[in-house]
Amino acid sequence: MSRLRIAIQKSGRLSEKSLELLKRSGLEFSRSKDKLFWYGKDFPVDLLLVRNDDIPRMLLDGVCDLGIVGENIAFEVMLERESTDKLQCLKQLGFGQCHLSIAVPESMDISDSKELQGKRIATSYPALTKHLLGKKGITMQISELSGSVEIAPSLGTAEAISDLVSTGTTLRANHLVELEILYQSQAALYRQSKELSAKKQQLMDQLLARIEGVLQALKSKYVMLHAPRSSVNEIADLLPGVEHPSIMPLEGTQDRVAIHAVCSEGVFWEHLEALKAAGASAILVLPVEKMLA
Ligand code: ATP
Repeated sequence: MSRLRIAIQKSGRLSEKSLELLKRSGLEFSRSKDKLFWYGKDFPVDLLLVRNDDIPRMLLDGVCDLGIVGENIAFEVMLERESTDKLQCLKQLGFGQCHLSIAVPESMDISDSKELQGKRIATSYPALTKHLLGKKGITMQISELSGSVEIAPSLGTAEAISDLVSTGTTLRANHLVELEILYQSQAALYRQSKELSAKKQQLMDQLLARIEGVLQALKSKYVMLHAPRSSVNEIADLLPGVEHPSIMPLEGTQDRVAIHAVCSEGVFWEHLEALKAAGASAILVLPVEKMLA
């Protein structure tokens, strides 16, 4: 029987959220003893738990069908293999956000990355850094390090670094400042490029629809409120991301109605205050657990 194989990071920044997304999509796994291969119980999708940069390589080699990995790593491996067209990004997943930035010591008197021309740059992402610098017309000597890139300038092995930044704490702790953002990244779902059997393609489409439903549900809210019948249009316009609200009569009154709607964008206190000012009352905002378009 056809089964899909999906690879996620074994342990690291993306592991927990990747697994949570698959579980929310209705996948359950029985864990094998070596913990690297988990068998899918009710849905024919098995899980491979591997190192982050092995995921795009396994997709390119056809070892797995789907993978969740940072866009930066997928791009890096595609450049490394000179095969930019081979991995297809199916969906950005909204977690693992970070950016690849050029950073230099605070003490360096520099305002433009072009001034780094010909100098040394330390990075764990050599192919991506070279490619992105090249697009800006900058050539630098790349010093590849597998970790602790941020200490290279103080060790005197490079003038600048190109590293992933999310909060900037590591840079500040090492007296470095961001000079320029080269690339914005987040976790994404990729598929291998080979054509799949009809059965596997059907499974992939089904899983993708579930994942899209989970992502949509996570950012959606179900809003219920009472409103003056005369202000229905005004109130519907104040509900963020709502196209077709349901309007229902309220027992015992002609003047007020109930409005129920799924808001596809964040619902903040400011929205509730504006609704109340327009005459709404009994406003309830509820999380949405599942959604299928
Ligand atoms: P592994 O240990 O699996 O070989 P790794 O050491 O590259 O891989 P992590 O440090 O867990 O793994 O990073 C995984 C991914 O998380 C990165 O490739 C990137 O897409 C994303 N990420 C988000 N924020 C950051 C950050 N501040 N630093 C590094 N990676 C980040």
